[in-house]
Amino acid sequence: MHLVDTHCHLDPQYFPDGPDAALDRARKAGVSAFMVIGVGATLEPARAAVRLAEAHPRDVAAAVGVHPHDATTLDEAALRELRELGARDAVAAVGEIGLDYHYDHSPREVQRAAFAKLVRLARDLGKPIVVHTREAPDDTLAILDGEGAREVGGIIHCFSEDEKFARGALDLGFDLSFSGIVTFKNARDVAAVAASAPLDRIHVETDSPYLAPAPMRGKPCEPAYVVHTARRVAELRKTTLDELAPALWKNAEHRLRRRFA
Ligand SMILES: [Zn+2]
Ligand SMILES: [Zn+2]
Repeated sequence: MHLVDTHCHLDPQYFPDGPDAALDRARKAGVSAFMVIGVGATLEPARAAVRLAEAHPRDVAAAVGVHPHDATTLDEAALRELRELGARDAVAAVGEIGLDYHYDHSPREVQRAAFAKLVRLARDLGKPIVVHTREAPDDTLAILDGEGAREVGGIIHCFSEDEKFARGALDLGFDLSFSGIVTFKNARDVAAVAASAPLDRIHVETDSPYLAPAPMRGKPCEPAYVVHTARRVAELRKTTLDELAPALWKNAEHRLRRRFA
């Protein structure tokens, strides 16, 4: 079995010994490709994600962007550097970008402006978008639609909305990625979408170090745990992990436009 963790954060504050031990544990568990997300209050996590992906060109891709929490940091210099980083082969996507109206760490109008600029950057680069959205379903779809995100498509990461949002996102060319949330007993809407979304439009992710899936819930999450999430998605779809895994692998390669070894 081979799985892709399509969304993990491996920054040193979460993995003080460096990312390689976590990647090795994941490989032993059958997780053999990764998309590492480089976002933070500065661009250092983006640079680090690119370095990691360049060091592991066969099985690690990077995404670079500015998280909605940090939208106030997106100035001209940051945009210029993201454009340079984003053009590199190791970078498979622009992200995570989007809107977070739950925490509101940046003012909403600043979040919306940054999101729109970064969607335009992704279109300029011709790379797909990894979207973070929380409690902002309508504005998220409106900006993706208004900025022509359909041209590059992408992934709604850590899907935590309902069927209506799922339909809107799928129609705009965005796949749905399921995190540990889908293993939580109270996540009925998310489970319903995981059960019914088109087989060729779904992914799994850890969003490590957050949201460890059951039965690891409460522990720091790491890429190896995506196996539990994938097993739950298989169960919801009344199939087996062995049958689902090749489809997920193909979806990740298709959406991220690369071959993982
Ligand atoms: Zn996120
Ligand atoms: Zn994330």
